[in-house]
Amino acid sequence: MNRKLRTSAAFPAISLSQHKPSARFDANLLVCPEHRAEGALALAYISHPDCLRHEMGEHHPESPARLRAINDRLSAAGIWDWLRHVEAPLAPLRALQRAHHALYLAELNAAWPKQGYVHLDPDTYMNPYTLTAASRAAGAVLRAVDGVMAGEFQRAFCAVRPPGHHATRAEAMGFCFYNNAAIAVLHALDQHGLARVALVDFDVHHGNGSEDILANDERVLMVSTFQHPLYPASGAEPLGFNMVNVPLAPYTDGVALRGAVTRDWLPALERFAPQMIVISAGFDAHRDDDMSQLMWADADYAWLTEQIVEVADRHCRGRIVSTLEGGYDLSSLARSVLAHLRVLGGY
Ligand SMILES: [Zn+2]
Repeated sequence: MNRKLRTSAAFPAISLSQHKPSARFDANLLVCPEHRAEGALALAYISHPDCLRHEMGEHHPESPARLRAINDRLSAAGIWDWLRHVEAPLAPLRALQRAHHALYLAELNAAWPKQGYVHLDPDTYMNPYTLTAASRAAGAVLRAVDGVMAGEFQRAFCAVRPPGHHATRAEAMGFCFYNNAAIAVLHALDQHGLARVALVDFDVHHGNGSEDILANDERVLMVSTFQHPLYPASGAEPLGFNMVNVPLAPYTDGVALRGAVTRDWLPALERFAPQMIVISAGFDAHRDDDMSQLMWADADYAWLTEQIVEVADRHCRGRIVSTLEGGYDLSSLARSVLAHLRVLGGY
């Protein structure tokens, strides 16, 4: 890990620089693994090799090794072949423009280097493959929403990078360029005509970009947990009536997390009755990840996912689109994604 990155202006020291399978699934879409028929897989795994080509230097924590670690772990655990693998398309401009100002997108394109790096903030750089990877990441969530809405699969996990939840309408920051989660939410609302979509963000950093884009949109409920204080130092005061922000003090463990989710998230989600749930799935609150001081364990990610699945099964036929955000300790990242997918897919 590059300590210099961790202590840069954008990521100061206080900030970013076996699970029990759920039995509640749509019987038409998911059956027990031992009885699973070819083509009946309910959990899509959407990614693209282009997501490995964006990199910000060999010591940067947001590295291609993150996806490789996840893929290796899923293979070793024996669930790789149970996943329905889907290649992420490039995202059309109109889908990006739902979440971002046209001028910002044009400026990003103009700054995109043909060689070397261009620094957008102290920790966020573009290389010659960055915007292609970012377009695949956004395209993955669009494909996920389309597939879930069509009943092609019940749920989807987008194994993509760069992540997205710090990208605001007009600013790249915190390793993020296009806000994948917000793009998914707005695509479900505007393209598919849903009336209510919930965004659940359990990354250890506040999803300031998603809040910037979605605050005060009555069609959206965003619930989040994040360490506070920590990069990007926002979130303690919600920007909109539709934000349920739950700041957690450093060293909060899984017991306290579960209490906060039960007290603050679940009643709000119940009242909102979402027609789809999008997850900003960051795994950097893990106790082994030194990007933060939260103390969650693999089992906490399984528990969190179970709570989200229960809400989705009650209100929206299980429809969940989950997209990778943070998680920088490769071992705990890969284990936690495995725990998340075991619950999403019932493996
Ligand atoms: Zn994070």
